[in-house]
Amino acid sequence: MSTELVFPYEIAPAAGAATEVSLGIFWIRMPLPFALDHINLWLIEEGDGWALVDTGFGVQATRDIWEQHFVGTMGGRPLRRIICTHYHPDHLGNAQWLAERFATNEGPLIPEMSLLELVTAHAVAGGTGAHQRSALATFFRSHGLTEEQIEITANRGNTYSGGVPTRPTTCQRIFPGDTLEIGGKLWTAIVGHGHTPEHLSFYCEEARLLISGDMLLPKISTNVNVWPVTALSDPVAEYVNSLQAFKYCEGDTLVLPSHGMPFRGIKARVEALETHHEARMNDLYAAVADGEKSAAELIPVLFRRQLDNHQLFFAIAEAVAHVNHGWHIGRLTRAVGVDGVIRFGAI
Ligand SMILES: [Zn+2]
Repeated sequence: MSTELVFPYEIAPAAGAATEVSLGIFWIRMPLPFALDHINLWLIEEGDGWALVDTGFGVQATRDIWEQHFVGTMGGRPLRRIICTHYHPDHLGNAQWLAERFATNEGPLIPEMSLLELVTAHAVAGGTGAHQRSALATFFRSHGLTEEQIEITANRGNTYSGGVPTRPTTCQRIFPGDTLEIGGKLWTAIVGHGHTPEHLSFYCEEARLLISGDMLLPKISTNVNVWPVTALSDPVAEYVNSLQAFKYCEGDTLVLPSHGMPFRGIKARVEALETHHEARMNDLYAAVADGEKSAAELIPVLFRRQLDNHQLFFAIAEAVAHVNHGWHIGRLTRAVGVDGVIRFGAI
């Protein structure tokens, strides 16, 4: 069995253009204002209109490109369904804007998504409960970030709302394992944990397509993270366990990821990601061999590059994910120091 991934497309569609990846299923790409500079979205012809999976970051630059697609790619035909994989701003950012733009006499479109993702969107945007800035600052401090680092991460303002300026208040709930008919074909909602609470990917066996969202990406590893709302959780295990479901997809399935290029080779990619996280864990065990360390002290072990503020925010959450995993599986000790910082040590 080949372990190579196959990339059938050499170039991604330009802004405002689309690539038909399967009959009636179009790949479009939108810019992002981060180091990760793009997201792939999927437009699916359905009857006299369109269904859409994910919506792009909710800023004017994306909406200007959407205007081009309304006329060009969509040929003036209406958007009838909005489906979201998860609550992150590059996916949910324009859901409400599009829902209102294509409102019918019954009102705005009602997005189809996981209820847990919609509730999380509102909690993060509203800064309620464990999503309060002060809770985040306390959490980051307990994992060893300096006050200066806390200032540029936890206290940098609510960037989520910046990317999702308006949010749907209601959804048509998709449950894990549900079958949806989209564009005349059946798609199964595959749940994924570890990246967000209840990410949904969509698999169409008939068309041999997997819209993987952020759960399965060709080049980069998905960010797995711990936030204060589930401070003791083990998202590395959640994520790797979730990946197992993709192994049941047909081997010739074309994966349509949110970032990077469409590819074939699901099993090889899942195995590479399993190996990646094992290697990261071994790096951590080696790094604490000479003494206990906090998650913050272990960031350079996991990320061997300079991080900007946006990346540091996710890097500390990913570092906590990995130390929590080591602790959960009995490979790391966990103790709170007199300074209130949690440190992890060798067993
Ligand atoms: Zn995401």
